Amino acid sequence: MQLSFYDSMSRRVEPFVPLAPGRAGLYTCGPTVYNYAHIGNFRAYVFEDVLHRALEYAGLSLVHVMNLTDVDDKTIRGSREAGLSLREYTRKYKDAFFEDLRALSIEPASVYPAATDHIPEMIDLIRRLFDKGVAYQAADGSVYFSVAKFPGYGKLAHLDFSGMRSGVRISNDEYAKDAVGDFALWKAWDEADGPVKWDSPWGPGRPGWHIECSAMSMKYLGESFDLHTGGIDNLFPHHENEIAQAEAATGKPFVRHWMHCAHLRVNGEKMSKSLGNFFTLRDLLAKGWSGREIRYVLVAAHYRQPLNFAFDALAAARTALSRLDDFSVRMERIASASAPAAQTEAAIAGTHPHSSGPAPAVQTAGLSAPSWTERHLEAFDRAICDDLNTPLAFAAAFSLVNEGNRLAQDGAATPADAAAALAALARMDRVLGVLSRPASEAVPPRVQALLDERAAARAAKDWAGSDRLRSEIAALGWAVKDTREGQRVSKC
Ligand code: AMP
Ligand code: ZN
Repeated sequence: MQLSFYDSMSRRVEPFVPLAPGRAGLYTCGPTVYNYAHIGNFRAYVFEDVLHRALEYAGLSLVHVMNLTDVDDKTIRGSREAGLSLREYTRKYKDAFFEDLRALSIEPASVYPAATDHIPEMIDLIRRLFDKGVAYQAADGSVYFSVAKFPGYGKLAHLDFSGMRSGVRISNDEYAKDAVGDFALWKAWDEADGPVKWDSPWGPGRPGWHIECSAMSMKYLGESFDLHTGGIDNLFPHHENEIAQAEAATGKPFVRHWMHCAHLRVNGEKMSKSLGNFFTLRDLLAKGWSGREIRYVLVAAHYRQPLNFAFDALAAARTALSRLDDFSVRMERIASASAPAAQTEAAIAGTHPHSSGPAPAVQTAGLSAPSWTERHLEAFDRAICDDLNTPLAFAAAFSLVNEGNRLAQDGAATPADAAAALAALARMDRVLGVLSRPASEAVPPRVQALLDERAAARAAKDWAGSDRLRSEIAALGWAVKDTREGQRVSKC
């Protein structure tokens, strides 16, 4: 499988060729843990999850690093307002972040380095920048990177900074630094920082945000590595500054491929904390939407297209997912049917409409996959290889569903067809992570037992019993609907 990705530096779709054959190193800028992440942030993390999954799907062994920014103006302000230590304050939001990742079926990164655990590495890197003559300490005690001294500055954002290299100094009192574009490597302590400070060769203070990512990415992935990603707002100045720091220090190319996702918007504006137009994942879960439905909305759009957030899209996701679940139930029934008698409603109810995990429990041994499922899988693979084209990948999944449903309606779907269809969906789901119900939405055994009992009651035309069982199931927090495919349950 040859993956190709759009590279933000070259601005072209290019084949992805890892530095070491068979392996990939990925760095994704993580959350600032001062509050709950909003679903705009999760658009970036879900895009990065699809990338993570696609790299593994293509057979690469992946090291994925995501940092946690646990010291900056916002975390310091928040901890002081809450009367907590910085560590106590950020702990709460780190934990919440990991909970949210699970709700969205985001595969864990290999390591989540926290900035406050890597201050010595950042100090070392700043020392190297002094040795190379690109760092200076200003009158306010802070240390800055001199953009004029790094000739490649602006290459990622395609901005021309040559004017800054003419040696014009800023004489304005507002700036302690030499040039407006210079950025802080080390921020000298001031009163607003309270107890938050570390010793350094340049006096007490704390690292700048950009140095954090250069130091931690190189620590875990080496001085040159394969992929670095974020939301498009990270491209400048954050990623431009990361390149300047890393390359000025090492003299080596920092990152091979830069990838950025477009924003999640609300009425045409970026969803952001500062505009107040945001929903956290928790807000949406509290409104009754599931993590899987939210993930569907985020994954179904191509990552480089701006996406407008709307509740209609969540409702459409709900419909699409129940179509997928109905299909899975139908195929599981056909795959496990050895005789026509098995296709009674009792048997329908006996199959579990909540297959979870990577591979459905169907017997495929001895059955060769029919070419119709292969065709959809090939279309799926082509879509993923072409810059993670998830809209086309979903189209391939739904073509498979349509074709399988047609075969089943005509009575022409064999157990081998059904098993292959389920295996194909499970394979596609290794990248999309949304086609099968996650374990967190699986039906508990007690509810399943009542469902089985209810299916038997209905088969015996015991309608009073069926209604009583429906109430019992509702009391456990699950709603039952009777469909052509049998009972369908969802969490109330
Ligand atoms: P922050 O906590 O602001 O540093 O953002 C964390 C990640 O979320 C970064 O990769 C941002 O680029 C990304 N991000 C923030 N807002 C949005 C948005 N509305 N749409 C997509 N990505 C976003
Ligand atoms: Zn970063």
